[in-house]
Amino acid sequence: MSPEVDVAVAGGGPAGLQFAREIATRSDHSVVVLEANRRLSDNDKSTGGTFDQVIERFDVPEAVVMAENEDVVFEGPDASERLPIPGYVLDFPAFVEFLGEDAAAAGAEVRTGARVTGPLEADGRVTGVEYTEAGTGERLTAELVVDATGPAAALAGPLGMFDREAAQRGIGKEYEIEGRYDLDSMLFAFDHEVAPGGYAWTFPAGDGVFKAGVCWIDDFYATHAGGDDRIDEYIERWIAGDDRWAMDDRRAVHAGEAVSNNSLNRRAVDGLVAVGDAVSSINPLFGEGIRPAVESARWAADAALEALAAGDTSRERLAPYERRWNDEKGAQWRVQRMVGELLYDFTPDQQNRFVRASGRLSDAAADRLQRYELSVRDYLSLYPFTPRDLRKVPKLLRHL
Ligand SMILES: Cc1cc2nc3c(=O)[nH]c(=O)nc-3n(C[C@H](O)[C@H](O)[C@H](O)COP(=O)(O)OP(=O)(O)OC[C@H]3O[C@@H](n4cnc5c(N)ncnc54)[C@H](O)[C@@H]3O)c2cc1C
Repeated sequence: MSPEVDVAVAGGGPAGLQFAREIATRSDHSVVVLEANRRLSDNDKSTGGTFDQVIERFDVPEAVVMAENEDVVFEGPDASERLPIPGYVLDFPAFVEFLGEDAAAAGAEVRTGARVTGPLEADGRVTGVEYTEAGTGERLTAELVVDATGPAAALAGPLGMFDREAAQRGIGKEYEIEGRYDLDSMLFAFDHEVAPGGYAWTFPAGDGVFKAGVCWIDDFYATHAGGDDRIDEYIERWIAGDDRWAMDDRRAVHAGEAVSNNSLNRRAVDGLVAVGDAVSSINPLFGEGIRPAVESARWAADAALEALAAGDTSRERLAPYERRWNDEKGAQWRVQRMVGELLYDFTPDQQNRFVRASGRLSDAAADRLQRYELSVRDYLSLYPFTPRDLRKVPKLLRHL
């Protein structure tokens, strides 16, 4: 019996919707997206900071951009440097709505309120999904299934493509605020007082609006937190403790978890590809996930279109996507996972030295930092070595 649809996408975040958008605009294949939330915009976990590679290459309209800035500020407990890295701040819920509308306009069907519960399998391959909609269990068979369910990894997890148990875990939370914001840059603060084992940030978000948040990696939070304050207490202190901004009203809260490893996971099995955070595409150094989500979706779609055209969605046909990811991102992500383990465990003195060193990067090196294409020389120039770091070597070597 032939499958009901050509492509079934589980998860309507940036990765799943971009995948649907790619298939629907570049082919006549039928695509159905199953999203658990009642509305796409209910996925409002993200602060929406991103770069021109997303805006330009993925045709993101101005209407979903809240602010544009020319540079980024890095701060340590006693250091502050400005880096020439231009960026954008998206209205994240509006961004995912836009991706969904664009995919639908090209012919994809986007169903909300449909939670995928597991893969359908036959003869050792994935043949569709089981899902619940309005309290009823349903099945959808497909030539190709896509896991784009983010950190939940609803299919990639059970299929053993991504070992979530061995991954690093973190949380992030951000307030979208009406008030005064005197900076015109994104700011990242590496300071255990404001964000133990992570960083705090503020982003401009249009006239009289800004975003302020705190994130950390659980293991390093445990080492560097002085007490057991909740993340909201850190955010509230971060907002109240600096006179470069002032809050009149909190109009939204965005929060979520990150489950990440070095991204070198199995991205394709017979009948299924996984994209975005379902296979930990998020950058393990700074937790930037939108750009890798849409890039992974595009690369997966490239391989999927060839496989669908050949009538063969076996792993062998889909594996060019996995190889491309591993070649173009995986090697850097692996190094950055190690660098992240060092960065979030820095002493306050190291945080200051790292920030000062970042201020000495040339424009070309700052651009490489933004692209995560740093050279060994760049890493060495940024790294605030102390003899105490030698005891971390065995743990870091395990990542290799
Ligand atoms: C507080 C916070 C701030 C962040 N800020 C930034 C930032 O400024 N810039 C940046 O680039 N990245 C940021 N990130 C990371 C970024 O948001 C993610 O990496 C990105 O959203 C990943 O996209 P995705 O489509 O892979 O997954 P997700 O955005 O997680 O989307 C997955 C979708 O799948 C749905 N889903 C889950 N399970 C099921 C299921 N069983 N069935 C059907 N649907 C399901 C979910 O509801 C969701 O809509 C931030 C993350 C957090 C938590």
